[in-house]
Amino acid sequence: MAGPADAADPYRGPLFDAHLHYNVEACDFRAACPYPVAHVYATLQRAGVRAILANSRTNEGTHALAAAGDAARAAGITVVPFVRLYRNRADYTGWFADDSITTMVIDELSKGSAAGAFRGLGEFHLYEAANADAPVARRLMRLAQERDLVVLAHVDDDAIERLLAHAPQARLIWAHTGIGGVPVARVQELFERHPRLMGELSYRPGLTDGRGGLSPEWRALFMRWPGRFVVGSDTWVNARWDHYDVLMADVRRWLGDLPPPVARRIGWANAAELFGVPSPD
Ligand SMILES: [Zn+2]
Repeated sequence: MAGPADAADPYRGPLFDAHLHYNVEACDFRAACPYPVAHVYATLQRAGVRAILANSRTNEGTHALAAAGDAARAAGITVVPFVRLYRNRADYTGWFADDSITTMVIDELSKGSAAGAFRGLGEFHLYEAANADAPVARRLMRLAQERDLVVLAHVDDDAIERLLAHAPQARLIWAHTGIGGVPVARVQELFERHPRLMGELSYRPGLTDGRGGLSPEWRALFMRWPGRFVVGSDTWVNARWDHYDVLMADVRRWLGDLPPPVARRIGWANAAELFGVPSPD
């Protein structure tokens, strides 16, 4: 039985957390704030994160991260703000048919953030792929394509095809690259068919081998498509903030099973190039 001594050295370069939420449970700005902005930046800095794709329910969380420019700069962190579609939990399951979401998104886009213009839409969820054809889903995909906004979508493989049918030139990051564990062969098929599709890797079943290293089939996928993947924490509940250091250490562990240039692409450079974030070193 192989032991931890066999593990490769972890990746030690910069990380781009391309799936970060600062939701109302982490800080509601009026009552409880278990994770103040300063704590968030200290946590990210400790983990070696140098840029974040920030999106929050409500968008107030993202505005707060963006507004703390001095703290972000002091921690060496670039904030890439996204407009999330959710005002509350109910919006997770109804946004795609609710025109007031379109209004909110357009309003947020016109206001921008203290860290600059919003760069994308999401994360949004579709629990049934057919809802990818609902009116607001179509409209927002076309809006993203027109305005060169990146979309972060937590959906299944069928919904990926439907969303990209509405806006074939849209930039789409597939949150979790199929949280339901869609086979790697199907992921590959979608990547071949949609050259601008990228995959984010939090919660992806089968990614690691049970000892924290990379599974052979995912390693092969990354070697084939080194430019198409990004990493993320998905701080969707406060427990993810509690364990943020461990989450990022886990990412560094499996990235260490890749050749260093590929590890850096997936851990940092793919997202940094997508959003034009300069290299920190
Ligand atoms: Zn998420």
